[in-house]
Amino acid sequence: MVAAVNQLNGEPPREKIQIILRSTPGSGAVPFARILRGRFEGIRFYVDPGASLQDLKKDWTAYHEFSHLFIPYPGDSDLWLSEGLASFYQNVLQRRAELLSEQQTWQKLYDGFKRGESNSEFSTMTLSQLSENIRQSRSFMRIYWSGALYFFEADVALRQGTEKKGTGKIQYTALDKTSR
Ligand SMILES: [Zn+2]
Repeated sequence: MVAAVNQLNGEPPREKIQIILRSTPGSGAVPFARILRGRFEGIRFYVDPGASLQDLKKDWTAYHEFSHLFIPYPGDSDLWLSEGLASFYQNVLQRRAELLSEQQTWQKLYDGFKRGESNSEFSTMTLSQLSENIRQSRSFMRIYWSGALYFFEADVALRQGTEKKGTGKIQYTALDKTSR
């Protein structure tokens, strides 16, 4: 898992990452986790002690949480940026670790974008406004997946920008396990 995370930028997101494990029996391998900000940044994982190694390896939570540490906490109103980054890269990294096939990865991204699109209850509010009031609005899908779409589109645009001129289309390689 750590090797897959390191592939994203060639090194871990922080020099030191504090990991705390808490036991939470019986509700999925890793039902919950929280980023620790402060003097030592890290992640507190709530883990089912009965989960098998295979269950733990397949769980997406660690890929999501480690991705958060690639950027500092942006503040409540830009929570969408942090959750978008983590939601996009959890899938890219699981693909690169070969836990998801290419088809499954595209499906997960597509399903996520659709969930974000359907979460339109507060469509007149901006992502920043929703992020600041996430506990009241509970617009998790729109916040997470609009943010993920932002990173997906940025990734495509950057790859297009570095593609040779005149080829007409890009080979999308973010899901390739050797690409960065
Ligand atoms: Zn998150």
